[in-house]
Amino acid sequence: MRIDIITIFPEVILPVLQAGILKRAQARDILTVNVHNLRDFTTDRHQSVDDYPYGGGAGMILKPEPLFAAIRALHPASTARVVYLTPQGTPFNQSFAEAFSLESHLILICGRYKGIDERVRTKLVTDEISIGDYVLSGGEIPALVLVDAIGRVLPHALGNYESAQEDSFSQDLLDCPHYTRPAEFEGMKVPDILLSGHHKKITDWQHEQSLRRTAERRPDLLKNIELSTEDIAYLKNNE
Ligand code: SAM
Repeated sequence: MRIDIITIFPEVILPVLQAGILKRAQARDILTVNVHNLRDFTTDRHQSVDDYPYGGGAGMILKPEPLFAAIRALHPASTARVVYLTPQGTPFNQSFAEAFSLESHLILICGRYKGIDERVRTKLVTDEISIGDYVLSGGEIPALVLVDAIGRVLPHALGNYESAQEDSFSQDLLDCPHYTRPAEFEGMKVPDILLSGHHKKITDWQHEQSLRRTAERRPDLLKNIELSTEDIAYLKNNE
């Protein structure tokens, strides 16, 4: 999979790509991430990327010419999905990460200041994505959120020890609690069942804990899944 990121601050993005799963996915050629400086697509002497808004008001707008030039240079065949990160977009979630991971080419546009010229959105942007109902100063952190969430669900990106299957949201449930050694720490004991070595009982316990957590913290998620009769009985008994 190839992801191109257009930004005026490559230095915000580059270090994050050099660690952990993202670094490994790139080293294994599962993922290619190219970070492009928008200034490289300007034609004027000052490499201007922003200008004052028509109609007045505070804040600058990213100009259309460099953005059009960058996007057209990166996907001449128009096959990529062109994603603008914006608080006005569709809220990002795990289903989006999984759907985007099936694409072969994404172009992510990071806004700054008041945002980008509307004509880029109307003509070239295919998707508008928000990472939450708050306003950040730029699209770089949102772009990294997408790259990380997408990168870790690409086939073979995770090692055995980082399975994504049991993570929160992958089955529309939150993950169960986890423990590691020591078996007792400051008087707090690991649940006996996890020390029992009984695989079936352990997976049943983990599933019940996921159900309980989801019911307590995110009951809205339970509406998306078909619960078994055992699940329903468990939730009733633990209300
Ligand atoms: N004037 C814009 C608005 O109110 O919709 C906000 C501009 S914001 C200060 C600058 C840039 O940060 C945006 O163009 C966008 O790329 C990015 N950004 C800020 N918050 C975001 C969020 N919650 N999700 C995705 N991108 C965001």
